[in-house]
Amino acid sequence: MRIDVLTLFPEMFEGVFGASIIGKAREKGIVELNTVNFRDYANNKHNTVDDYPYGGGSGMVLKPEPIFAAVEDLIRPDEPRPRIILMCPQGETFTQRKAEELAAERRLVFICGHYEGYDERIREHLVTDELSIGDYVLTGGELPAMVVIDAVVRLLPGVLGNESSAWADSFQAGLLEYPQYTRPASFRGWDVPEVLLSGHHGRIEEWRRRQSLLRTLRRRPDLLEQADLTPEEQRFIEEERRRMASESLSGRETERDRGQ
Ligand code: SAM
Repeated sequence: MRIDVLTLFPEMFEGVFGASIIGKAREKGIVELNTVNFRDYANNKHNTVDDYPYGGGSGMVLKPEPIFAAVEDLIRPDEPRPRIILMCPQGETFTQRKAEELAAERRLVFICGHYEGYDERIREHLVTDELSIGDYVLTGGELPAMVVIDAVVRLLPGVLGNESSAWADSFQAGLLEYPQYTRPASFRGWDVPEVLLSGHHGRIEEWRRRQSLLRTLRRRPDLLEQADLTPEEQRFIEEERRRMASESLSGRETERDRGQ
């Protein structure tokens, strides 16, 4: 995969693109990561890439010319148009599903904004996707682009040492991941669940699946709506829901008793 990032601050990417798993993926040639400073494409003598908004108002707006020119310079006319992704808080919220979808592409181009906004013609006539990393506003699109690139690159074949480790992750299978333990088996009197020491793979898998279901039910019940569950798992979830409801009811009753 090749990823190009258009940014006014390419130096921000040096650490992230050079270190850890992403750095290794680059060394192995699995991904090529390239930054482009679109200020180099400014067509005026002061190299300005932003201007005042038409109609007045506060803040500066990124001009269309340098961003169009930088993207057009990256893509040969005979090449298929890659996904061109604009990072912005108004975009579709980035999810693990989106990471999987993008990991299937051969080429991605990211555009990182800064200042108040983008000229709307960039949205309308250049980009294929608009992505947000959540309902909050950051100073620039660099950190959001790093988040998306990290989530995508770790899914590329050969990037993670153990291929299966991405598949057990939270969200990948539509559920949150089960609890994990490592040595020592007993720490300050807190013991690792017996089943994990049993060496019985079938029982361990069953325990993990149930823990995954329970954790998802307690922390992110919304995910269960879309999860692929067997009839037995659905019954298990229903029983657990009833148990949780009766526990919270008896909790409320105890509180009321205490109040009287
Ligand atoms: N005025 C813009 C608005 O209300 O949508 C916010 C601009 S923000 C200060 C500057 C840049 O940071 C954006 O153009 C975008 O590239 C990036 N950005 C900020 N928050 C983001 C988020 N949650 N997800 C993705 N990009 C974000």
